[in-house]
Amino acid sequence: MPQRPFTMLGRQDITFIGVSADHTGVTGSNTENDAVDQTQSTRMCMGSHTNLYLSYCLTLNGGKGKSMERSLSIIKPDGVSKRLVGEVIRIFEDVGFRIAAMKMKKLSREEAQGFYYVHRERPFFGELVEFMISGPVVLMVLEGEDVIMRNREIMGATDPAEAAEGTIRKRWADSKQNNIVHGSDGPESAMFEINYFFSGIEIF
Ligand code: ATP
Ligand code: MG
Repeated sequence: MPQRPFTMLGRQDITFIGVSADHTGVTGSNTENDAVDQTQSTRMCMGSHTNLYLSYCLTLNGGKGKSMERSLSIIKPDGVSKRLVGEVIRIFEDVGFRIAAMKMKKLSREEAQGFYYVHRERPFFGELVEFMISGPVVLMVLEGEDVIMRNREIMGATDPAEAAEGTIRKRWADSKQNNIVHGSDGPESAMFEINYFFSGIEIF
C-alpha cells in the first residue's frame, strides 16, 4: 500500500494508530472487557479493539458510571463568515455541553483532505475541500453525556432542506455543502477527529 503523509491518515487507520501508540500492555480482548464497567460508551469503546481508544474512554468515564463522551465540532467557514460563532457556542452551552477545547484555524488543503479522507471517492470531495479551506474554522471538543448523537440532533440533517425545525442547519445552512457545522458521527470518528486537531494538553 502506498504511504500517505500523516495528514492523509484516514479513519480506517485508527486501529493502526492505536496499536502503534500502545504502551499499556492492555490488549482490549474480551477477557479484559469483562473486567471493566460495561457502560454504553465503554461497550462502544471496546468495539474498536485499540488500546489507545480503551484508555481514552476509561479515562473519560472514570472507569464506570455515565456514558460521558467527546465529539469534535467544527464551525465551518460559512458559519464563521456569517458571524454565527457566538450563536452556535451559545446553543452548545445552553444544552449543557462542556467545551473542553477550542481554537480557530485556517485549514490547509492537506488537512482538509485528510479530515474528509473517508469521502475521497465521492463526487463532491474536491468542492468540499475547497469550501473547508475557503476561510477559518472554529474547532471544538464538546464533552457531555451522549454528546455525539445529541450534537448530531442539534445540528440537523446534512441537507438543510431535510433538517428538522430549530436545528442549526435548518436555521442557517444554505446548502448540503455549506451547512455551518460538522459533528463527529460516532465514537471512533470522534477519537480520530479530536486527535487530528488537538493534542492532549490542549484539551481541558
Ligand atoms: P459532517 O461530516 O460535516 O458533520 P454529515 O456527517 O452530516 O456532515 P457527511 O455525509 O459526512 O455529512 O458529509 C460531509 C460533508 O460533505 C457535509 O457536511 C457537507 O458539507 C458535504 N456534503 C455531503 N454530501 C454532499 C453532497 N451531496 N453535495 C455536496 N456536499 C456534500
Ligand atoms: Mg460526517
